[in-house]
Amino acid sequence: MAAAGADTRGAWCVPCLVSLDTLQELCRKEKLTCKSIGITKRNLNNYEVEYLCDYKVVKDMEYYLVKWKGWPDSTNTWEPLQNLKCPLLLQQFSHDKDVYLSQVKKGHAVTLKNNNKALNPAVAEYIVKKAKQRLALQRWQDELNRRKTHKGMIVVENTVDLEGPPPDFYYINEYKPAPGISLVNEATFGCSCTDCFFEKCCPAEAGVLFAYNKNQQIRIPPGTPIYECNSRCQCGPDCPNRIVQKGTQYSLCIFRTSNGCGWGVKTLVKIKRMSFVMEYVGEVITSEEAERRGQLYDNKGITYLFDLDYESDEFTVDAARYGNVSHFVNHSCDPNLQVFNVFIDNLDTRLPRIALFSTRTINAGEELTFDYQMKGSGDISSDSIDYSPAKKRVRTVCRCGAVTCRGYLN
Ligand SMILES: [Zn+2]
Ligand SMILES: [Zn+2]
Ligand SMILES: [Zn+2]
Ligand SMILES: [Zn+2]
Repeated sequence: MAAAGADTRGAWCVPCLVSLDTLQELCRKEKLTCKSIGITKRNLNNYEVEYLCDYKVVKDMEYYLVKWKGWPDSTNTWEPLQNLKCPLLLQQFSHDKDVYLSQVKKGHAVTLKNNNKALNPAVAEYIVKKAKQRLALQRWQDELNRRKTHKGMIVVENTVDLEGPPPDFYYINEYKPAPGISLVNEATFGCSCTDCFFEKCCPAEAGVLFAYNKNQQIRIPPGTPIYECNSRCQCGPDCPNRIVQKGTQYSLCIFRTSNGCGWGVKTLVKIKRMSFVMEYVGEVITSEEAERRGQLYDNKGITYLFDLDYESDEFTVDAARYGNVSHFVNHSCDPNLQVFNVFIDNLDTRLPRIALFSTRTINAGEELTFDYQMKGSGDISSDSIDYSPAKKRVRTVCRCGAVTCRGYLN
């Protein structure tokens, strides 16, 4: 039971073999509270409506079938409308009902039976599925926000279909090196500037340009590396050369796209042009391992493999199972995010960090995209497209809709 209940960040999690209903029954018998299975002090002895499952009219009285929070489905009861103090749930119920009915109306008419005295079972079934999905997505959103270490919030939204949280995805904040790969996490050199913007700072020491202007916008051309100040530098957290390391500042939304592109990411706030939006993280694996996984993956899996080809082609980032919000960002041939290679505490040029910056102003509500073929080198000239056998085996049709669409993802 501990595995299901505890917020054990970083610890091993074992899937619980006992059903949720059984766990809830056990907890109630022992008078134990357990937030993650929905048993709180408040509903241990009291009843709280979790969602509404069905509707009927008996002798001119309206009734709803109630699923009680922290209680198994077998204890659902019919309650008269006047006893229900849950306006939001009633609203969701009627919204879901309308959505379902408008969908079937397009096909063949399945509406209320018995002169509006009861719901068609298919409608009730859809409403329950939708309620369960809403709870699952809320739990996932809570988990993502517990795990993330950056400032911006993560919102999850699906108003399109019944798809729930991805079953095999684990949120990470930074690279997860595969066994045998070591990521040095302390730089050998740090600057001693009193003002990093005006003095010979870390970028100059690496022989490159200072990447940012005073408004925290990137001012170097694509393909140029970013060298940020690191843990050895004398400067403080407000140094103008510490941007990517502070993580995503914007609140973003993982949403279900309506054009068949699965999940996508949109921004909930306006993003200034040339601003850091997010890092691309995942497992760091060798290119040989990437080749092997590429053979096993389907079309979609392959698109999560990002070659670190800044100066060598030894390593690949695989964001298929481990990743952050960038895992959900869709491809576009005309993207609004651009890839940059970043060096902070790890100065090994074979292992740059990958940062995504806006190429233009992005308004609140706009979907974020980057070009899956665009690597840190900044163009898609033939040598930056990976023609490894694993990747050209299957071609995936691009659905980005851009005027300049190249037609394929790979
Ligand atoms: Zn400096
Ligand atoms: Zn520095
Ligand atoms: Zn600095
Ligand atoms: Zn395209």
